[in-house]
Amino acid sequence: MTFRSRPEAIRQDTRLAQGELPALDRATIHPYVDASPGPVYYQREAHPVGLEAEAVLGGLDGGHALLFSSGSGATTALLLALLEPGATVAVADGGYFGTYALMQNELTRWGLRVEAFDQTGEPPNADLVWLEPCANPMMSFPDLDPAISQAQASGALVVVDNTVLSPVLLRPLEHGADFVLHSATKILAGHHDALLGAVVCARVEDHVRLREFRTASGIVAAPDPAWLMLRGIKTLSLRTDRQSATALELARRLTRHPAVERVRYPGLGDPVAASYVDAFGPLLSFDVAGAREAASVEKSLSLIENATSLGGVASTLEARARWEPDRVPPGLLRLSVGLEDVEDLWADLAQALDALPSG
Ligand code: PLP
Repeated sequence: MTFRSRPEAIRQDTRLAQGELPALDRATIHPYVDASPGPVYYQREAHPVGLEAEAVLGGLDGGHALLFSSGSGATTALLLALLEPGATVAVADGGYFGTYALMQNELTRWGLRVEAFDQTGEPPNADLVWLEPCANPMMSFPDLDPAISQAQASGALVVVDNTVLSPVLLRPLEHGADFVLHSATKILAGHHDALLGAVVCARVEDHVRLREFRTASGIVAAPDPAWLMLRGIKTLSLRTDRQSATALELARRLTRHPAVERVRYPGLGDPVAASYVDAFGPLLSFDVAGAREAASVEKSLSLIENATSLGGVASTLEARARWEPDRVPPGLLRLSVGLEDVEDLWADLAQALDALPSG
């Protein structure tokens, strides 16, 4: 697989991110103790590592970044700070179930009205449209340019959850989105050891409003995960290339395995996805016959970990029906490809699939 060179902004900002990490010293982690000669921060408002991480991420995405305690914390802040009670949200069907659950189970009590829609078609009228390219776990990909302009023409704000692709592969603000959402827990931090989220705003006034809400609500990222994200960004471009190449190869091999009924990966010839990105990231899903078969694959794997987290250096797989039984087929397995050797990963998958009755 060959990759086009990264856009200049990514190359520059990746170089920027290759610089020295802020020292994890007492003054950096506990700036209230000794921030001299710089400003004295109260950490709910800002801290030096967070400001540095926000500058780097803002550079990568081409906007104004703010870090939050998790991706879900960032989503909560976006919805509560920028919408009015009674607002309508149209959210991509088949995307991260926690986003829908937060809206539906928690925020409808506060007047939010939520509608799931097929993001491969036109977005419905709403105050906010939520898109998720390479939707986790159903892997649909919206036609971003018309979807964003249609939604905005009818007065909606548009958020693109870019957790799965990261700014290395897709920069939604360049397609006109108002906000980018990241679960930085995943690919940005990249090592399964941090929990944090981010919103990148196209407009400075939204950034100001969200920062105000973040300080008031306390949904802030602590210095340590922010530092881990900075460290992760140093290898983001390399990890993306390797994980995308391995995921594409595994997706191709999975399509040929008799126990696999369907492989969901936009890299397998989705022309819409290919018109926006030149590689498709680490996440794919595939279907085996049913829940029993999916459980058997989970149990038979030895290199690939049976775990929920995605986007890190270790490959992880799980049957998503465990979390979202009403939204996904019982045999759907979601695989997040890490940095292991492709042949080792295939050997692990193949032995688990060969053991199924149809294998
Ligand atoms: N968005 C996507 C696409 C996700 O996969 C996740 C978590 O899995 C989130 C948002 C929420 O992020 P967090 O777990 O950091 O709250």
